[in-house]
Amino acid sequence: MTGKVMAHWYPAYVGLGSNLQGPARQLENTFDLLNAIPKTRLIRRSSLYRSAPFGGIEQPDFVNAVAALLTQLSAMDLLKELQRIESLRGRERGDPRWGPRVLDLDLLVYSDQKIAEPSLIVPHPGIGVRNFVLLPLAEIAAELTVPGLGRCASIDVNLAEPRISRIG
Ligand code: ADP
Ligand code: MG
Repeated sequence: MTGKVMAHWYPAYVGLGSNLQGPARQLENTFDLLNAIPKTRLIRRSSLYRSAPFGGIEQPDFVNAVAALLTQLSAMDLLKELQRIESLRGRERGDPRWGPRVLDLDLLVYSDQKIAEPSLIVPHPGIGVRNFVLLPLAEIAAELTVPGLGRCASIDVNLAEPRISRIG
């Protein structure tokens, strides 16, 4: 034996959202950028979904999707890579919460971990309440167990939320 430790690949799910500067094109490009993260592979991507904005600010509809990754990075290092991609695409850190944005990347699920740091909450709290997170996630990972919520396909959709439709 050489004593060399095999690197472990962790499953991670990332939520993508955009409502500025050609949202569908933004997300298509972002899948490529996710696949280019060091020590990380894009293994699956959902369809694109169009959803009405939320939070009372007058703004264009969002386009949303979810990506499944395998990564050797820690959850925190993966979050830093996601924020690097947001900045690269022109995301301004000072943008208002729930306001329009070129690109929003949220770490939804990381392996079977539960994390509650000020800068990182995993599983992402949106999974149980936002259909634009839940529906694309369920499309590509119906059998995934989301820590604290259970099997993805068994999580209830939020009937109180505004419209969402699959666009391709
Ligand atoms: P939101 O996605 O809620 O609309 P932002 O994208 O502006 O808001 O994120 C604000 C902060 O949320 C980031 O600085 C980040 O540290 C924190 N955050 C906490 N948990 C997560 C997560 N699971 N994925 C991405 N960001 C997260
Ligand atoms: Mg975000």
